[in-house]
Amino acid sequence: MKKTIRDFDLSNKRVIIRCDLNVPLKNGVILDDNRIKKSIDTINYAIEKGAKVIILSHLGRIKSKEDKINNSLYPISIRLSELLKRNVIFVNETRGLVLEKTINNMNPGDVVLVENTRYEDFPLKKESNNDKELGKYWASLADIFINDAFATSHRMHASNVGIASNIPSGIGFLVEKEINILGDFLSSPLRPYVVIMGGAKISDKIKVIDKLVNKADYILLGGGIANTFLKAKGNDLKESIYDAENIDFAKEMLNKYPNKIVLPVDGYGSLAYQDGLDVVYNDTNDISSGIMLLDIGPKTIELFSKYINNAKTVFWNGPLGVSEFKNFEYGTKQVCELLKQSSAKVVIGGGDSAASVIRFGYDKFFDHISTGGGASLEFIEGKKLPGIEIIEEK
Ligand code: ADP
Ligand code: MG
Repeated sequence: MKKTIRDFDLSNKRVIIRCDLNVPLKNGVILDDNRIKKSIDTINYAIEKGAKVIILSHLGRIKSKEDKINNSLYPISIRLSELLKRNVIFVNETRGLVLEKTINNMNPGDVVLVENTRYEDFPLKKESNNDKELGKYWASLADIFINDAFATSHRMHASNVGIASNIPSGIGFLVEKEINILGDFLSSPLRPYVVIMGGAKISDKIKVIDKLVNKADYILLGGGIANTFLKAKGNDLKESIYDAENIDFAKEMLNKYPNKIVLPVDGYGSLAYQDGLDVVYNDTNDISSGIMLLDIGPKTIELFSKYINNAKTVFWNGPLGVSEFKNFEYGTKQVCELLKQSSAKVVIGGGDSAASVIRFGYDKFFDHISTGGGASLEFIEGKKLPGIEIIEEK
């Protein structure tokens, strides 16, 4: 068992909480504050126990100076302060005198939010490559480290593994809940156990299937992942997205597990990746020229329903089509409806999947919406997550 925040005396201690405040932002406006809300319980607990709370988080990816301007955590500090109903001191740098002085001047119950940890990724990828000096430096600012960022726990970064290698560490309430719920999926899923995968981050996720196929009874595929398998089967996908580098892998999976991997038989597409154009219906064996498949169709839903209706456990990651476009929300919505009607235990993981389920109003019918996409997939595949492994045992 990993140590949790409850296992430490926090009074008057400087406590770094690694949160995942990586919310969607447009022109400095927060589009969805779900991840900030999910971080509140752990932060409030630390405040109540008299800790000096130092929050670290990343936001987006930082590959240029321009990215820094667009991905400051400043707007998040404002929302965080509203949700905590107290002042949040924002420090607009990731290291240096101002940060050190601000922390030295903290009183118990104070909250400091440090600028985006990935500012350290430009020009050198110090955060993402777990630069030893950086982890040591951040650790030097605190007495205790708490990892509450489940969604980045599958990465070995300076702001999780780096800090935890240097000072006493535990997990926060969010990570604790995630590993409890997802742990059941790993150790004792009720069967049939069905995994549904879709989305566009194909190369990130496709390899998970190798292990997952031995844990689950069936894997139903949609989105870009399914396209890669259809391509491997020899279908002419015309303009649809797929991952050319993983076609051989997909072929191998289809050869080994022909009855476990279930692919779409039909879908909807259009001439471009755009909403509002004419919607074209196609069999996946016969896609019209110039068409990009952007959703699964009714025959696929019919096929999927046979598996979902019998399932006792379902894990779903990745929308089955471009669910943010009105014209291509069909497949994702229909699967929500099938899951609502099934008696299976249902867990959804992944930023875009969760956002769609919430937008369509189905979140209340499911057992858990995980904050992790890649992290939750790797966890239920049985992989050890470095950000959790590094935390001390009780
Ligand atoms: P999650 O965030 O749930 O882990 P991903 O980030 O992998 O999921 O993928 C989500 C994205 O996949 C969405 O923006 C969606 O529009 C896109 N997508 C789904 N199906 C397709 C498709 N057939 N073609 C192109 N993009 C797709
Ligand atoms: Mg996503």
